[in-house]
Amino acid sequence: MICVSNPLLAEYRPPPGHPEHPHRISYVREFLEERFGKEIVSVSRRMATPEELCSVHAREYIEYLFSLNAETYLDYETVFSERGLEEIRCAAGICLDLMEYILSGTARKGFALIRPPGHHAGYNRAMGYCIVNNIALAVQKGLQKLQRIAVIDWDAHHGNGTQELFEETDRVFFVDIHQDNLFPIQSGAADETGKNKGKGFTLNIPLPAGSTGVQYLDSMDAKIYPLLKAYKPELLCVSAGFDAVAGDLEGGMTLTPQDFGAMTERICTWADEFCGGSVFMTLEGGYRIESLSAALSECIGVLQNWRRHELGR
Ligand SMILES: [Zn+2]
Repeated sequence: MICVSNPLLAEYRPPPGHPEHPHRISYVREFLEERFGKEIVSVSRRMATPEELCSVHAREYIEYLFSLNAETYLDYETVFSERGLEEIRCAAGICLDLMEYILSGTARKGFALIRPPGHHAGYNRAMGYCIVNNIALAVQKGLQKLQRIAVIDWDAHHGNGTQELFEETDRVFFVDIHQDNLFPIQSGAADETGKNKGKGFTLNIPLPAGSTGVQYLDSMDAKIYPLLKAYKPELLCVSAGFDAVAGDLEGGMTLTPQDFGAMTERICTWADEFCGGSVFMTLEGGYRIESLSAALSECIGVLQNWRRHELGR
Protein backbone atom coordinates (compact mmCIF):
# COMPACT_ATOMS: atom_id res chain seq x y z
CA MET A 1 0.00 0.00 0.00
CA ILE A 2 1.25 3.43 -0.85
CA CYS A 3 -0.24 6.77 0.21
CA VAL A 4 0.95 9.60 -2.03
CA SER A 5 0.77 13.35 -1.46
CA ASN A 6 2.82 16.53 -1.70
CA PRO A 7 3.24 19.24 1.00
CA LEU A 8 2.66 21.81 -1.75
CA LEU A 9 -1.05 20.97 -1.65
CA ALA A 10 -1.28 22.33 1.89
CA GLU A 11 -0.22 25.75 0.59
CA TYR A 12 -3.17 26.28 -1.73
CA ARG A 13 -5.08 29.17 -0.16
CA PRO A 14 -8.65 29.87 -1.10
CA PRO A 15 -10.25 32.94 0.52
CA PRO A 16 -10.54 32.80 4.35
CA GLY A 17 -13.50 30.76 5.51
CA HIS A 18 -13.70 28.66 2.36
CA PRO A 19 -14.57 25.04 3.33
CA GLU A 20 -11.98 23.55 0.97
CA HIS A 21 -8.97 24.77 2.96
CA PRO A 22 -5.33 23.66 3.31
CA HIS A 23 -5.82 22.04 6.72
CA ARG A 24 -7.78 19.33 4.95
CA ILE A 25 -4.38 18.00 3.86
CA SER A 26 -1.98 19.18 6.57
CA TYR A 27 -4.09 18.04 9.54
CA VAL A 28 -4.90 14.69 7.91
CA ARG A 29 -1.28 14.07 7.13
CA GLU A 30 -0.21 14.73 10.71
CA PHE A 31 -3.02 12.49 11.94
CA LEU A 32 -1.92 9.65 9.65
CA GLU A 33 1.75 10.07 10.59
CA GLU A 34 0.89 9.90 14.25
CA ARG A 35 -1.11 6.71 13.80
CA PHE A 36 0.95 4.89 11.19
CA GLY A 37 4.42 6.47 11.42
CA LYS A 38 6.28 9.20 9.57
CA GLU A 39 6.87 7.09 6.47
CA ILE A 40 3.17 6.50 5.77
CA VAL A 41 2.95 9.32 3.20
CA SER A 42 5.20 9.26 0.11
CA VAL A 43 5.81 12.42 -1.87
CA SER A 44 5.14 12.75 -5.60
CA ARG A 45 6.48 15.88 -7.28
CA ARG A 46 5.07 15.12 -10.69
CA MET A 47 3.18 17.91 -12.44
CA ALA A 48 0.52 16.76 -14.91
CA THR A 49 1.27 18.13 -18.37
CA PRO A 50 -1.24 20.07 -20.49
CA GLU A 51 -1.49 17.03 -22.78
CA GLU A 52 -2.32 14.79 -19.84
CA LEU A 53 -4.99 17.21 -18.60
CA CYS A 54 -6.46 17.27 -22.11
CA SER A 55 -6.92 13.50 -22.01
CA VAL A 56 -10.28 14.12 -20.30
CA HIS A 57 -10.81 17.90 -20.54
CA ALA A 58 -11.44 20.23 -23.49
CA ARG A 59 -8.25 21.81 -24.81
CA GLU A 60 -9.85 25.28 -24.67
CA TYR A 61 -10.66 24.79 -20.99
CA ILE A 62 -7.11 23.69 -20.12
CA GLU A 63 -5.66 26.57 -22.15
CA TYR A 64 -7.95 28.94 -20.23
CA LEU A 65 -6.66 27.55 -16.90
CA PHE A 66 -3.07 27.98 -18.10
CA SER A 67 -3.81 31.60 -18.99
CA LEU A 68 -4.84 32.50 -15.41
CA ASN A 69 -2.26 34.13 -13.16
CA ALA A 70 -4.32 35.57 -10.33
CA GLU A 71 -7.04 34.38 -7.98
CA THR A 72 -10.12 33.75 -10.10
CA TYR A 73 -13.61 32.51 -9.28
CA LEU A 74 -14.41 29.78 -11.82
CA ASP A 75 -17.94 29.64 -10.42
CA TYR A 76 -19.47 31.17 -7.30
CA GLU A 77 -17.63 28.78 -4.97
CA THR A 78 -14.76 27.32 -6.98
CA VAL A 79 -11.63 29.38 -6.58
CA PHE A 80 -8.53 29.12 -8.72
CA SER A 81 -5.87 30.40 -6.32
CA GLU A 82 -2.89 32.57 -7.15
CA ARG A 83 -0.81 29.40 -7.52
CA GLY A 84 -3.73 27.44 -8.83
CA LEU A 85 -2.05 25.99 -11.86
CA GLU A 86 0.80 24.52 -9.86
CA GLU A 87 -1.63 23.02 -7.40
CA ILE A 88 -4.05 21.39 -9.82
CA ARG A 89 -1.15 20.01 -11.87
CA CYS A 90 0.38 18.64 -8.67
CA ALA A 91 -2.87 16.95 -7.52
CA ALA A 92 -3.44 15.45 -10.97
CA GLY A 93 0.23 14.41 -11.16
CA ILE A 94 -0.07 12.51 -7.87
CA CYS A 95 -3.05 10.58 -9.24
CA LEU A 96 -1.20 9.79 -12.47
CA ASP A 97 1.86 8.63 -10.52
CA LEU A 98 -0.28 6.43 -8.29
CA MET A 99 -1.99 4.90 -11.31
CA GLU A 100 1.42 4.12 -12.79
CA TYR A 101 2.54 2.47 -9.56
CA ILE A 102 -0.51 0.25 -9.63
CA LEU A 103 -0.36 -0.56 -13.35
CA SER A 104 3.33 -1.44 -13.11
CA GLY A 105 2.83 -3.58 -10.00
CA THR A 106 5.01 -1.30 -7.83
CA ALA A 107 2.02 -1.08 -5.49
CA ARG A 108 -1.15 -3.11 -5.39
CA LYS A 109 -3.18 -0.58 -3.44
CA GLY A 110 -2.82 3.13 -3.10
CA PHE A 111 -4.39 6.31 -1.82
CA ALA A 112 -3.84 9.73 -3.43
CA LEU A 113 -4.04 12.29 -0.61
CA ILE A 114 -4.87 15.38 -2.63
CA ARG A 115 -6.88 18.54 -2.81
CA PRO A 116 -8.75 20.25 -4.34
CA PRO A 117 -11.23 17.46 -5.10
CA GLY A 118 -12.12 16.62 -8.68
CA HIS A 119 -15.32 14.63 -9.15
CA HIS A 120 -17.61 17.57 -10.07
CA ALA A 121 -15.23 18.85 -12.77
CA GLY A 122 -16.57 18.09 -16.23
CA TYR A 123 -15.24 18.15 -19.77
CA ASN A 124 -15.05 21.92 -20.02
CA ARG A 125 -15.94 23.35 -16.63
CA ALA A 126 -15.04 23.64 -12.97
CA MET A 127 -17.73 23.07 -10.35
CA GLY A 128 -18.18 22.57 -6.62
CA TYR A 129 -14.53 23.23 -5.57
CA CYS A 130 -13.34 20.90 -8.38
CA ILE A 131 -11.20 22.26 -11.22
CA VAL A 132 -9.78 19.18 -12.95
CA ASN A 133 -11.16 15.68 -12.55
CA ASN A 134 -8.29 13.86 -10.87
CA ILE A 135 -9.79 10.38 -10.77
CA ALA A 136 -10.93 10.63 -14.39
CA LEU A 137 -7.37 11.49 -15.47
CA ALA A 138 -6.04 8.46 -13.63
CA VAL A 139 -8.76 6.19 -15.04
CA GLN A 140 -8.10 7.46 -18.56
CA LYS A 141 -4.46 6.54 -18.08
CA GLY A 142 -5.47 3.14 -16.75
CA LEU A 143 -7.53 2.52 -19.90
CA GLN A 144 -4.34 2.65 -21.98
CA LYS A 145 -3.49 -0.71 -20.44
CA LEU A 146 -6.75 -2.13 -19.09
CA GLN A 147 -10.05 -2.89 -20.76
CA ARG A 148 -12.48 -2.45 -17.87
CA ILE A 149 -12.21 -0.22 -14.79
CA ALA A 150 -14.84 0.28 -12.08
CA VAL A 151 -15.11 3.65 -10.32
CA ILE A 152 -17.01 3.74 -7.03
CA ASP A 153 -17.79 7.23 -5.75
CA TRP A 154 -18.92 7.26 -2.12
CA ASP A 155 -18.56 11.02 -1.53
CA ALA A 156 -21.80 12.45 -0.07
CA HIS A 157 -22.25 14.50 -3.25
CA HIS A 158 -22.96 13.10 -6.70
CA GLY A 159 -19.82 12.76 -8.84
CA ASN A 160 -21.50 14.34 -11.83
CA GLY A 161 -18.25 15.30 -13.55
CA THR A 162 -16.91 11.74 -13.51
CA GLN A 163 -20.28 10.42 -14.67
CA GLU A 164 -20.34 12.94 -17.54
CA LEU A 165 -16.85 11.96 -18.66
CA PHE A 166 -17.50 8.20 -18.79
CA GLU A 167 -21.25 7.82 -19.32
CA GLU A 168 -20.87 6.91 -22.98
CA THR A 169 -18.31 4.14 -22.58
CA ASP A 170 -18.69 0.53 -21.50
CA ARG A 171 -15.03 0.40 -20.43
CA VAL A 172 -15.72 2.28 -17.19
CA PHE A 173 -18.44 1.16 -14.80
CA PHE A 174 -19.30 4.22 -12.74
CA VAL A 175 -21.12 3.64 -9.46
CA ASP A 176 -22.17 6.55 -7.28
CA ILE A 177 -23.71 6.24 -3.83
CA HIS A 178 -24.65 9.67 -2.49
CA GLN A 179 -27.06 11.82 -0.52
CA ASP A 180 -30.14 12.38 -2.63
CA ASN A 181 -30.33 15.88 -4.11
CA LEU A 182 -27.52 17.34 -2.01
CA PHE A 183 -25.29 18.84 -4.71
CA PRO A 184 -25.58 19.22 -7.59
CA ILE A 185 -29.36 19.50 -7.32
CA GLN A 186 -31.23 17.06 -9.57
CA SER A 187 -28.14 15.07 -10.41
CA GLY A 188 -27.50 11.39 -9.77
CA ALA A 189 -31.04 9.99 -9.93
CA ALA A 190 -31.39 6.22 -10.08
CA ASP A 191 -32.60 6.43 -13.68
CA GLU A 192 -29.28 7.92 -14.86
CA THR A 193 -27.72 4.69 -16.11
CA GLY A 194 -25.38 5.79 -18.90
CA LYS A 195 -25.79 6.76 -22.54
CA ASN A 196 -25.25 5.15 -25.94
CA LYS A 197 -22.58 2.46 -25.69
CA GLY A 198 -22.32 3.20 -21.97
CA LYS A 199 -25.99 2.44 -21.29
CA GLY A 200 -26.15 0.16 -18.27
CA PHE A 201 -22.62 1.03 -17.12
CA THR A 202 -23.59 3.83 -14.72
CA LEU A 203 -25.30 3.03 -11.43
CA ASN A 204 -26.61 5.76 -9.15
CA ILE A 205 -27.76 5.00 -5.62
CA PRO A 206 -29.25 8.13 -4.04
CA LEU A 207 -29.92 7.65 -0.32
CA PRO A 208 -31.96 9.95 1.94
CA ALA A 209 -30.26 12.41 4.29
CA GLY A 210 -29.48 10.79 7.62
CA SER A 211 -28.58 7.42 6.10
CA THR A 212 -26.25 5.18 8.12
CA GLY A 213 -23.28 2.97 7.39
CA VAL A 214 -25.62 -0.04 7.44
CA GLN A 215 -27.52 1.44 4.50
CA TYR A 216 -24.27 2.08 2.61
CA LEU A 217 -22.99 -1.45 3.24
CA ASP A 218 -26.37 -3.00 2.35
CA SER A 219 -26.35 -1.03 -0.92
CA MET A 220 -22.81 -2.15 -1.66
CA ASP A 221 -23.67 -5.81 -1.02
CA ALA A 222 -27.08 -5.94 -2.68
CA LYS A 223 -26.66 -3.55 -5.62
CA ILE A 224 -23.03 -2.86 -6.38
CA TYR A 225 -21.41 -6.25 -5.81
CA PRO A 226 -23.58 -8.29 -8.25
CA LEU A 227 -23.11 -5.75 -11.04
CA LEU A 228 -19.35 -5.57 -10.59
CA LYS A 229 -19.09 -9.33 -10.35
CA ALA A 230 -20.75 -9.58 -13.75
CA TYR A 231 -18.63 -6.72 -15.17
CA LYS A 232 -15.28 -8.23 -14.08
CA PRO A 233 -13.31 -5.00 -13.69
CA GLU A 234 -9.51 -5.19 -13.90
CA LEU A 235 -9.10 -2.38 -11.37
CA LEU A 236 -11.28 -0.82 -8.67
CA CYS A 237 -10.98 2.95 -8.27
CA VAL A 238 -12.67 4.85 -5.46
CA SER A 239 -13.59 8.53 -5.30
CA ALA A 240 -13.22 8.55 -1.55
CA GLY A 241 -14.95 11.54 -0.08
CA PHE A 242 -15.50 11.57 3.67
CA ASP A 243 -18.32 14.09 3.87
CA ALA A 244 -20.94 11.39 4.58
CA VAL A 245 -19.46 11.03 8.06
CA ALA A 246 -21.73 12.29 10.85
CA GLY A 247 -21.13 15.94 11.66
CA ASP A 248 -19.53 16.90 8.35
CA LEU A 249 -20.08 20.56 7.48
CA GLU A 250 -21.35 19.88 3.97
CA GLY A 251 -23.04 16.48 4.14
CA GLY A 252 -26.05 15.23 6.09
CA MET A 253 -25.37 11.52 6.48
CA THR A 254 -24.56 9.73 9.75
CA LEU A 255 -21.73 7.31 8.98
CA THR A 256 -19.07 6.65 11.61
CA PRO A 257 -15.35 6.66 10.79
CA GLN A 258 -15.41 2.86 11.28
CA ASP A 259 -18.06 2.54 8.56
CA PHE A 260 -15.46 3.80 6.10
CA GLY A 261 -13.14 1.05 7.26
CA ALA A 262 -15.89 -1.50 6.64
CA MET A 263 -16.59 -0.05 3.18
CA THR A 264 -12.87 -0.22 2.37
CA GLU A 265 -12.89 -3.88 3.44
CA ARG A 266 -15.67 -4.53 0.93
CA ILE A 267 -13.61 -2.84 -1.80
CA CYS A 268 -10.49 -4.87 -0.92
CA THR A 269 -12.45 -8.13 -0.79
CA TRP A 270 -13.97 -7.41 -4.21
CA ALA A 271 -10.56 -6.44 -5.57
CA ASP A 272 -9.16 -9.79 -4.42
CA GLU A 273 -12.03 -11.54 -6.19
CA PHE A 274 -12.06 -9.51 -9.43
CA CYS A 275 -8.68 -8.00 -10.09
CA GLY A 276 -5.75 -9.41 -8.15
CA GLY A 277 -6.27 -6.98 -5.30
CA SER A 278 -5.70 -3.74 -7.25
CA VAL A 279 -7.29 -0.70 -5.61
CA PHE A 280 -6.79 2.99 -6.47
CA MET A 281 -8.34 5.52 -4.09
CA THR A 282 -8.30 9.28 -4.10
CA LEU A 283 -9.58 11.91 -1.71
CA GLU A 284 -12.63 13.93 -2.72
CA GLY A 285 -14.67 15.81 -0.08
CA GLY A 286 -14.71 15.81 3.71
CA TYR A 287 -14.92 19.20 5.40
CA ARG A 288 -14.76 18.71 9.16
CA ILE A 289 -11.10 17.96 9.55
CA GLU A 290 -11.35 15.87 12.72
CA SER A 291 -13.93 13.47 11.28
CA LEU A 292 -12.26 13.54 7.86
CA SER A 293 -8.99 12.47 9.50
CA ALA A 294 -10.62 9.77 11.61
CA ALA A 295 -12.54 8.27 8.67
CA LEU A 296 -9.62 8.49 6.25
CA SER A 297 -7.30 6.81 8.72
CA GLU A 298 -9.77 3.91 9.09
CA CYS A 299 -9.62 3.53 5.35
CA ILE A 300 -5.81 3.69 5.25
CA GLY A 301 -5.64 1.20 8.11
CA VAL A 302 -7.57 -1.36 6.06
CA LEU A 303 -5.46 -0.77 2.95
CA GLN A 304 -2.30 -1.00 5.03
CA ASN A 305 -3.24 -4.22 6.80
CA TRP A 306 -4.74 -5.96 3.79
CA ARG A 307 -1.35 -7.44 2.91
CA ARG A 308 -1.74 -9.66 5.94
CA HIS A 309 -4.82 -11.17 4.34
CA GLU A 310 -3.07 -11.52 1.01
CA LEU A 311 -0.09 -13.28 2.57
CA GLY A 312 -2.43 -15.60 4.39
CA ARG A 313 -3.79 -16.99 1.14
ZN1 LIG B 1 -18.58 15.92 -1.40
